[in-house]
Amino acid sequence: MTNDRWLTAVHEAGHAVAAVELGGQCEGLVLNVDGGLAHVTTPCHDREAYMIAAGPTAQELAGKNAAPELQGPEKIGATKALHPKEDFMFALSVELAEVPGSMRTLETDERRLAVWAIGGHESEPDSWARRIQFANYVAHKVVSANVEKIIRVAEQLFIHGHLSGDEVTGILAATEKEQ
Ligand SMILES: [Zn+2]
Repeated sequence: MTNDRWLTAVHEAGHAVAAVELGGQCEGLVLNVDGGLAHVTTPCHDREAYMIAAGPTAQELAGKNAAPELQGPEKIGATKALHPKEDFMFALSVELAEVPGSMRTLETDERRLAVWAIGGHESEPDSWARRIQFANYVAHKVVSANVEKIIRVAEQLFIHGHLSGDEVTGILAATEKEQ
């Protein structure tokens, strides 16, 4: 269970850091009973695809970096009061984090990437696999250039169960300062 939690935390941190590095924003990260969720924005459709690919790509970091020690029980959901100005969707998903199946309607990364690869290129099926390959290539570049940031965000998400956008911004700024 703890291994799954670490893998999920690193995956969601990959989405978050990629969104920011690609010019977008992270509005919050949540671990829930079914896995995890990243609330992010990206400046365009293509960068959204690279951000999506960065989640699965980042997972390889979970095996190379140890999960932090958990002090006390594993936390998901509303482990602390949310700030009123926090993103509505983020706040809602923190509330729903403990309800099994409440976030299952979400599309998988693989499906979202496939929709992106085909969209606008319906008549060129030969290009679909290449487009997915390219998204994975960009994701790999972004992930390998930001390993430290992804691990720092993942550690805090692993410990606290959720992080607001401001908390993610704070972790990224602190990591940059150290480097
Ligand atoms: Zn994902």
